[in-house]
Amino acid sequence: MLKRAVTIVQAHLRGAGLFNGPADGAVTPAFDAAVLAALTARQAEIPAGALGFPPRRRAILLFQLVCKDRGIPCDPVDGFWGPVTQEAYDQLVHLLDHGSLPRPWRDDEPSDANPHGWPRDTGNQAAMRAFYGPPGAPPITRVRVPWTLRLAWNKSQKVTHIGCHSKVAASLDRVLQKVHAHYGEAELKKLRLDLFGGCFANRKKRGGTTWSTHAWAVAIDWDPERNPLNWGRDRASLDAPAYDFWWHAWEAEGWVSLGRSRNFDWMHVQAARL
Ligand SMILES: [Zn+2]
Repeated sequence: MLKRAVTIVQAHLRGAGLFNGPADGAVTPAFDAAVLAALTARQAEIPAGALGFPPRRRAILLFQLVCKDRGIPCDPVDGFWGPVTQEAYDQLVHLLDHGSLPRPWRDDEPSDANPHGWPRDTGNQAAMRAFYGPPGAPPITRVRVPWTLRLAWNKSQKVTHIGCHSKVAASLDRVLQKVHAHYGEAELKKLRLDLFGGCFANRKKRGGTTWSTHAWAVAIDWDPERNPLNWGRDRASLDAPAYDFWWHAWEAEGWVSLGRSRNFDWMHVQAARL
């Protein structure tokens, strides 16, 4: 049983006046006794004979009841830590840490729209070369940013324009105007969308041998500090519901968020399809 799950059960027992020890995740005889006392009071909700289960299974039983108390489905209440209990655990931890249940992210699938026919960045990248030309020295157009950007790694450095591939400049400009009109300067700053992580970079993909879409200046990174390459939606800040409009604005123009599509590199959005 996960240590965090034990601390959750301990906190529950303390709240019920059955346990005086610290909520530290340590399994002790006092903890086992408190679990047994709690289950004794709730025998109608647990399987027959459950009071005779081994201590670990009893603790999981009580954890399952704690989930149900919070409105998180955790059936069957059987004292086994399977996928249902793991999912309930993930939801409960999110509720405790953030004050709300995680949202059902599968309900908001990335859009398939590709109105400008951005090429696919796959295989030998022939489609990228055909559409954007060779990587490394793209034709650059500077697009003015309607809010104040700062360099993510040097916040005293202001950024007024983003230099991107000429073919994506008009599209980038529309996205920036749209999100600025929606959020406004103060909210964009609050959402850390004023932290620019770069566009053109003449390099290969991290951990790969093909060219990064940054080498064509058709990718932009945002708030890299809170959305590093290997973080998933459980940690990346750009997955929060507050960014729905942000992502929808990019996706309406055919840009692809690697976070929303592949659940890594949440900082990164590109005018190239997967
Ligand atoms: Zn990137």
